[in-house]
Amino acid sequence: MPTFLSGLTGSFAQKADENPTVAMVEAAYVAAGLNVRYINCEVAPADLEGAVRGAVAMGWLGFNCSLPHKVAVLSHLDELAPSAAVIGAVNTVVNRDGHLIGENTDGRGFVEAMLTRADPTGSRVLLFGAGGAARAIAVETALAGAAHITVVNRNRERGQELSDLISSRTPATSEFIAWDHTIAIPDDIDIVINATSIGFHPDVDAHLDLDVDTLRPGMVVADVITNPPTTNLIRTGQARGCITIDGLGMLVNQALVAIKLWTGKDVDGSVMRSVLEDLFGTTA
Ligand code: NDP
Repeated sequence: MPTFLSGLTGSFAQKADENPTVAMVEAAYVAAGLNVRYINCEVAPADLEGAVRGAVAMGWLGFNCSLPHKVAVLSHLDELAPSAAVIGAVNTVVNRDGHLIGENTDGRGFVEAMLTRADPTGSRVLLFGAGGAARAIAVETALAGAAHITVVNRNRERGQELSDLISSRTPATSEFIAWDHTIAIPDDIDIVINATSIGFHPDVDAHLDLDVDTLRPGMVVADVITNPPTTNLIRTGQARGCITIDGLGMLVNQALVAIKLWTGKDVDGSVMRSVLEDLFGTTA
């Protein structure tokens, strides 16, 4: 008799080595007593369609996609969640009896992490970056009620495109500033977000080109970088009395949202955070 696993979720990544998400999600499943496993599969771009069909054939509850599959997977799905359609990328796929729904939980994870410290309703946001993480964060922060998002990016075309997307597809207004000079944070900004890869291991000494004297006490300063969570931006924000939110919060919360979509269960985020802190350290 063949044995069918009762619940299996997974991740289609291009490189399967050293995946902290596996350790984090499996710890949450064990702590919740769920009969579900989370495995990481290395999938070459040419094999994506076969991998998606395989997941359905094996009855997986769903899977995550990492780069470079986040956009390519769209053509293999039956339905897109509204915010994933605006973002134009999917990091989570939910299998409902063979009907595949694409979701993007990165931006929602960021907003959930922010809501533990600050409410973005009516806020003015300055966002560094215009890549995949920045797109997801911008769309969800706008949908969560931010009034205005200033996009600051080195590549003008990508930055302008994200700013246009915010203005045309979300309730927020937006402007683009080319990042070709040291950025002074305007007085009316409430929330500063680094959604670039600056500060990611091993370039831990890298600095954003911004005037740190313009970071004010009480301002929210958030960073997407997980390794290490204490980036130069977070350290400077803490020293200047800002409300700081590190990248681990986004990583934990995007998984909480995905696990709820796959299993219908709320698992313990603190279990996941402590796995990540063991791997990457803590900002506390
Ligand atoms: P992308 O490659 O799509 O985008 C990278 C962004 O960083 C672009 O805006 C790029 O600018 C900018 N950038 C990179 N280097 C520099 C530099 N030296 N100076 C100025 N700008 C720079 O990557 P992602 O958006 O997918 O990921 C960005 C970061 O977010 C990664 O470090 C990733 O690990 C992290 N992340 C964290 C998550 C979490 O849960 N905490 C979830 C997802 C991502 P330009 O357009 O000019 O090239």
